[in-house]
Amino acid sequence: NEGLGSWPARRARKTPRRTALVHDGRTLAYADLDERVTRLAHGLRSLGVRRGDRVAYLGPNHPSFLETLFAAGALGAVFVPLNTRLAAPEIAYQLADSGTSVLVCGPAHAGLADELRAGAPVRSFVAVDGAGAQYFQDYQDHQDYEDLLAGGAADRIDEAVGPDDLCMIMYTSGTSGRPKGAMLTHGNIIWNAVNVLIDHDLVADEVALVSAPLFHTAGLNMLTLPVLLKGGRCVLVAGFDPEATFDLIEKHRVTFMFGVPTMFQQVARSPRWEGADLSSLRILTCGGAPVPPTLIAAYGERGLTFLQGYGMTEAAPGVLFLDAEHAESKAGSAGVQHFFSDVRVVAPDEPGLRPTGPGEIGEVVVRGPHVFRGYWGLPAESAAAFTDGWFRSGDAARVDEDGYAHIVDRIKDMFISGGENVYPAEVEHALLTHPDVLECAVIGVPDDEWGEVGRAVVVARPGSAPTAEDLLAALAGRLAAYKIPKSVVFTGALPRNGAGKLLKQPLRADFGNP
Ligand code: AMP
Ligand code: MG
Repeated sequence: NEGLGSWPARRARKTPRRTALVHDGRTLAYADLDERVTRLAHGLRSLGVRRGDRVAYLGPNHPSFLETLFAAGALGAVFVPLNTRLAAPEIAYQLADSGTSVLVCGPAHAGLADELRAGAPVRSFVAVDGAGAQYFQDYQDHQDYEDLLAGGAADRIDEAVGPDDLCMIMYTSGTSGRPKGAMLTHGNIIWNAVNVLIDHDLVADEVALVSAPLFHTAGLNMLTLPVLLKGGRCVLVAGFDPEATFDLIEKHRVTFMFGVPTMFQQVARSPRWEGADLSSLRILTCGGAPVPPTLIAAYGERGLTFLQGYGMTEAAPGVLFLDAEHAESKAGSAGVQHFFSDVRVVAPDEPGLRPTGPGEIGEVVVRGPHVFRGYWGLPAESAAAFTDGWFRSGDAARVDEDGYAHIVDRIKDMFISGGENVYPAEVEHALLTHPDVLECAVIGVPDDEWGEVGRAVVVARPGSAPTAEDLLAALAGRLAAYKIPKSVVFTGALPRNGAGKLLKQPLRADFGNP
């Protein structure tokens, strides 16, 4: 096994006693992780999991998330991380689309998993939380996680898994409204981790604070997996809490943090910011959205420099990176390509891939061993995502005279709220099911706390008089909270072109002010 599933065993051979994971006051050494993963892999096999089968995980950051990922890898099975912030029908869609046969429910998530039973093809439920059993007692195939693990054999599983084998399916929201499963191979994840190790200068004594969710590519692939590959220590936190962050940094002498700008913003705004001991911090990486200059300045005053990452789920995810050496001189830039990556900024509307000149805005395209192999079950969309082997990011950027890229905007209309991508089309589809909504459009508007939040621009059906509260209440529970617009503006008509296509530019000009 040359894939991720072999990492715990390889680490256990080299550094058995070093701590791999810290969670809730418990520590797990690499040797313990190896043993638990091996037993879990046998347990999953006893539930019928074979090569290529999909095993999903629904839950917050917890050792069982990583154990399930590695155990699936040991069997050559495919790991499907699920976003806990999604509403039940959204999760059920991903389970059905991926054809997941075993769902592992993390702490406090068995209740949600229970809601999913009807809509999903899942054969076996495994509940990490002992309390989970109550939900599944009338259901034939449910297991307690620790029982499954304890019942599994300890002899090593020797399944042939190589870099081209599928490792995970990570869902990314689609502009068409349906999430698409990005297929990442073991090779994709490994090459990305190598890029992170090289460009962050990670060492074996790294202590990473993992409060970014593991179900997102950044928390998993930019932070956790590279640190575990190097033999460092990951402190797993179930949810991000700025106050608790200070305690964790001081207690564990955290060296490495990764987050979206919103997270670092909340930390800097805390009353504890002034008095806290941040002397252990060595690497702070901000990714997923542009970093506001005020944030760079606030951390700069504490002697802390932000590295910046730009990437996407499909690239596993690192594409561009601004290193410590250039963090100040190139502030505001997303940097240059990672070591094993090729990036170009090309004229978006021209055939071929003509690189733009300095200062000219174009589309970011990327090629390399970390770039995914397509969307699960969507051959046409997968083919359309590439031109001559280059993945088209859909992001607009310009490159300066030194070759440093600045991300300008998203060519598609996505906006990012608190680090979560929101695709307007998906929200618009949901709003349109309300009987009083004739037409609608959703745009992102600037917001101090979340970066951007959604605003719905609505044309009400003649004769009806819905209120903003009515419309937003109808979305609650159907869409994740971060996707639900924070404001509604009513208007008489939406701007459209001759073909009837919605024009988002004039819409933003008229309704886009905070
Ligand atoms: P995801 O597919 O969830 O990984 O989101 C990827 C998208 O987030 C990219 O296509 C960009 O639009 C955006 N993004 C990621 N990193 C940055 C960054 N450093 N600056 C600006 N936008 C970013
Ligand atoms: Mg994307």
